[in-house]
Amino acid sequence: MPFQRVSAISCAVLAVTFVVIAFAVIWSAIRADDLARARQTKVVSSSLSAATQKIAHDQLSVVVWDDAVQNLKHSFDPQWVSKNLGRWMNDYFKHDRTYLLNARDEIVYADVDNAEYSAGEAWISPSVAKLVKMLRQKIADGALDAYERDAAELPVASDKMFEGARPSIVSVAPIIGESDAYAQTRGSEFLMVSVRYLDGSFASDLAEQYQLKDAHFETDVAHREELAFPVKTDGGETLGYFHWQPELPGKSIVKGFMPGFVIGIGLVGIATLLLLFKLRAAGDQLAESETQAKRLTYHDRLTALPNRTFLDQHLQSLLTSASRGDENVVLISLDVDRFKLVNDTLGYAAGDELILQLSQRLLSVMPPQSFVARIGSDEFAVVLPQFSDGDVETLCGSILTVVAGPMVLNGSPVVVGVSMGVAIAAQSDRDHHELSRKADIALNDAQASGRNQFKIFTESMSDALQKRRSLEVDLREAIENGRELEVVYQPIYSAGGVAVDGFEALLRWYHPRLGSVSPLTFICIAEECGLIHQLGKWVLRQACTAAAEWNDKTIAVNVSPRQLAEPDFVASVVDILKQAAIDPRRLEIEITESTLLDATGHTDRTLQALRQIGVKIALDDFGTGYSSLSYIMRHTVDRVKIDRSFVQQIGQSTRANAVILAIVGMARGSGISVTAEGVETSAQQELLRLAGADHLQGFLLSKPISRSDATALLSGTSSAVAAA
Ligand code: C2E
Ligand code: MG
Ligand code: MG
Repeated sequence: MPFQRVSAISCAVLAVTFVVIAFAVIWSAIRADDLARARQTKVVSSSLSAATQKIAHDQLSVVVWDDAVQNLKHSFDPQWVSKNLGRWMNDYFKHDRTYLLNARDEIVYADVDNAEYSAGEAWISPSVAKLVKMLRQKIADGALDAYERDAAELPVASDKMFEGARPSIVSVAPIIGESDAYAQTRGSEFLMVSVRYLDGSFASDLAEQYQLKDAHFETDVAHREELAFPVKTDGGETLGYFHWQPELPGKSIVKGFMPGFVIGIGLVGIATLLLLFKLRAAGDQLAESETQAKRLTYHDRLTALPNRTFLDQHLQSLLTSASRGDENVVLISLDVDRFKLVNDTLGYAAGDELILQLSQRLLSVMPPQSFVARIGSDEFAVVLPQFSDGDVETLCGSILTVVAGPMVLNGSPVVVGVSMGVAIAAQSDRDHHELSRKADIALNDAQASGRNQFKIFTESMSDALQKRRSLEVDLREAIENGRELEVVYQPIYSAGGVAVDGFEALLRWYHPRLGSVSPLTFICIAEECGLIHQLGKWVLRQACTAAAEWNDKTIAVNVSPRQLAEPDFVASVVDILKQAAIDPRRLEIEITESTLLDATGHTDRTLQALRQIGVKIALDDFGTGYSSLSYIMRHTVDRVKIDRSFVQQIGQSTRANAVILAIVGMARGSGISVTAEGVETSAQQELLRLAGADHLQGFLLSKPISRSDATALLSGTSSAVAAA
């Protein structure tokens, strides 16, 4: 999962968690506050109704009292009244006003807001008068009689109202005696009117008693953040509102919780961020190692060029998209000529350096949009989209030129070449394997044609390859059945031309359908498919067995480079020599110049081991390769065989004569024997003899002959010239 997605999900989960927690806390707080409000409102409501009852209850402590009737009604004592009824109600019960009325409802004494008034000095409001009237009516209706019979409470009339612009609870009670002595005529009772302001000490008492903060009375509804309870008269008229600051536990919980919560969010947020950064760093590292792994999977370590896997994918995607349009896709398979030689002579570091320099040279001549890959130790591939045949030839020419310039490796100048096979995708070529196969066939053709050149694939190359494949099948069959193969022997004469000094074993294949197939053709096939090991041993065994009959004559056997590279080659030679019971010094192994040039350390050791046991090494077809004679001298050989192509030019070109003279001269000077091959004329024979060649071999002297003819030749009973 990409890092951004992980981060987004983590943040979302965290945010949702925080929102849920915050929501739960706030919801609980709101709920707790609602409960608190309801509880406090209930408290205020019940305390208000209790307060109303309490005034009447306060009055009860003084209104049922013989002394009160005595000092108020019977003989009015202003001091006593002030002390026990007026001031007392204020001091003890905090009543704000006390009015004492006579039977005619006239004020005989009043205590209003801490000021005392006598009769005629104060008035009661119409609302209070209404209450007074209500009580008189109750008494008239027998309420006091019921009280005296203990059948009812003392009758009072009370309500809430504005008194002197102040909201108040007003209660009116009759003043009666306790004893019969102070019994009064019904309706003549004095009355006590008590007033308690709701906005005065009552509010603060209430606040103190029920712990209501900032409790006060107002005619308006509640302000924000305050609670209000309506104060109504018994008739339902709203006088105003009792306000207070509600004690809200939820709010304080939230207040107490929030800082911690916010800090918690902050800490968790920071921790999450740190974690995410760490995750990101780990993710980046992972991505980096993935990129690295991908690079290694798709690129060559040494040159950083794309590798074969990448090439295959790129080629396939180009071919697929090209099949939808009419674009051209060109593939060039490129192989460095004689790369092994550089590796073996200058070391692997120089080989690496060569590949690096070569890759840079290749890139320097590549057109835009080209794709260069290294697909093997000395193999490269170039893919070109939309390229014409003419352009390809120009590009291949440029590659040959740019590669041809000397490179300095390990301080020595080295010149290498490259062989290239070009395949241009036909409309039907939509498979990269097919295109690669064609480029490889063309490359083989370029290599077989002498290297350091390019060949463009043609169907005839493919036909040739097809023929090769079917020959390979037939050759395998021939080796298995053994009937179609034969070894023939071409005599090798001493330069004088009279004595046969030895034979060269030459393999023949009589194909049931194609007739005689040239070894030049089938040896290559055997080398490519690995049959050469089996075939080579068979030839060696045949030749050695035949040579056992020929006394001290030399037997020369051609050996391919692949045989020499085989680890047990020396052992098998020793084995065959032993079985044939011939002296190793009579065996001559013929190798080609290319064997020496491509020789690995192992091949060199094999050659040395063979020489140590006495086997001679002859350098066949000398002069056809690129090697200099001095190079050959370093790889000690016992004989050089001057190639037929030089011999045939004898008498036709003075240069050929000079070359032969030089070769013979240098070889003899180094103690190396010289054989001239392909001697067809007496003139050639004569010149070679004069030049100092040791041995001569050619149709002039004898064609290759069968084993029995060779035996007969040696015993002098057959003509050597009989063709095989
Ligand atoms: P090579 O080793 O150089 O053998 C000499 C070739 O020249 C032989 O061809 C021989 O028939 C031919 N030749 C000899 N004298 C003359 C002449 O005067 N005129 C002409 N025009 N040709 C002459 P052949 O037998 O066709 O062999 C061709 C090559 O095949 C050999 O060249 C050798 O490289 C290879 N070869 C043959 N037999 C074997 C074998 O058993 N093992 C390996 N590895 N290679 C073999
Ligand atoms: Mg030979
Ligand atoms: Mg030869």
